[in-house]
Amino acid sequence: MDVLLNELHRLADHCSWEMLLVAIDRPFRIRSTGVLDVLCPEHGEKTPSLHLWPTSGRFYCHGCGWSGNKIDFIAQQLLGYDRTPHLFGARDVEKLREFLGHVPSPSNSAQLELGF
Ligand SMILES: [Zn+2]
Repeated sequence: MDVLLNELHRLADHCSWEMLLVAIDRPFRIRSTGVLDVLCPEHGEKTPSLHLWPTSGRFYCHGCGWSGNKIDFIAQQLLGYDRTPHLFGARDVEKLREFLGHVPSPSNSAQLELGF
């Protein structure tokens, strides 16, 4: 795994679904099972079709079939990609880092490779 993707995954682990949904301004409710029901950001709707499973880290929309994992969600909703790219840029990592505020760095070597 390349260093940027590695860092993106590490930062994504610090993002909760709740944080992401608040950031993109999507109303949601949390079921007693922990599953989140969300108004899908991919289309207009009045009842939530998008479901997030925090334990597996995956989501699926019964309305439009949009699905993926947390990296897909971050790439497409937070970083503005139409589809999750195979390669992420340093700017993406920087953007996610800014979104999260202060996140402890894994090591100095990773920081140097990212050019911080
Ligand atoms: Zn949908």
